[in-house]
Amino acid sequence: MSDLRCDLVDAGHLIATGIDGIVGHGAVFEDVVRRLGLVIGRWGIDNGAETVHFPPVMSRANLERNGYLRSFPQLAAVLHGFGCGVHGPFTTGSDGDLSTGLMMVPSACYTIYPMVAARGPLRAEGALVETWSRCFRREPSTDTPRLQSFRMHEYVKLGRGADVVAFREAWIEKAQALYASLQLPFRLDNANDAFFGRPGRLMASSQRERNLKIELLVPIMVGAKPTACCSFNYAEAHFTEAWQINMEDESTAHSGCVGFGMERTTLALFGHHGFQPERWPDGVRQLLYG
Ligand code: AMP
Ligand code: ZN
Repeated sequence: MSDLRCDLVDAGHLIATGIDGIVGHGAVFEDVVRRLGLVIGRWGIDNGAETVHFPPVMSRANLERNGYLRSFPQLAAVLHGFGCGVHGPFTTGSDGDLSTGLMMVPSACYTIYPMVAARGPLRAEGALVETWSRCFRREPSTDTPRLQSFRMHEYVKLGRGADVVAFREAWIEKAQALYASLQLPFRLDNANDAFFGRPGRLMASSQRERNLKIELLVPIMVGAKPTACCSFNYAEAHFTEAWQINMEDESTAHSGCVGFGMERTTLALFGHHGFQPERWPDGVRQLLYG
């Protein structure tokens, strides 16, 4: 366990569960997560985003259609139930292990594409959606900011390619201003992974060349290695093709999203500014509590 995590547990901000990457939070930590969510949400109010929420589980069929199981099967998790079998009310094994058809949501935006697809073609201005979800990724780790269950606050833009690019550019600027206001050290990095995943490095490297995924990295405390606190993704036609989402004039629609890791950003605030939010720098307090 890192010192920061031990100290946060001792202070009651984090609650250890004995499972790597599954962590409880005290009221003060939760309050900061909530306030950060309100700050991120303000942009949506100013820019006419539609806010929606979904449960942290979704249909396996939809997740497959998003391409997640092809790209990241190792991170995915399926929900199974138990039937009433010959061994009693709850049985495990082949006679009682039932598929629910549900999987854990791995990225908040994956719930959005089926919703938008069901509405039919996009008007010229496209769609702008704000959401957050508890996300699950099966990557147990003792690294403090790497969780299996975490919250992701996202904006998803669907529409003409140029509009999606402009949305992403705006957020790259906006997010840098946000982390500067939070007085956290950060840098941008050109990442790969996401939507095009396996089959292959070739695709990953082409994704990198095309700058499709940019991350904002923050060390959660002085001396820690930088970790991604948000990502700015341009998926081109990957999701829109999978969901047959088109523009009303039948031209191809593109999509992009920006995703904030709420626990990571909050950890960084505690890591850099101390364990008592009432003592955080004035500018940070002004933004979150002002
Ligand atoms: P991604 O879809 O991988 O770009 O994730 C979006 C954001 O979610 C990242 O920038 C992180 O802040 C956060 N995130 C992703 N994976 C994890 C994880 N294992 N633990 C905590 N936060 C995560
Ligand atoms: Zn996303």
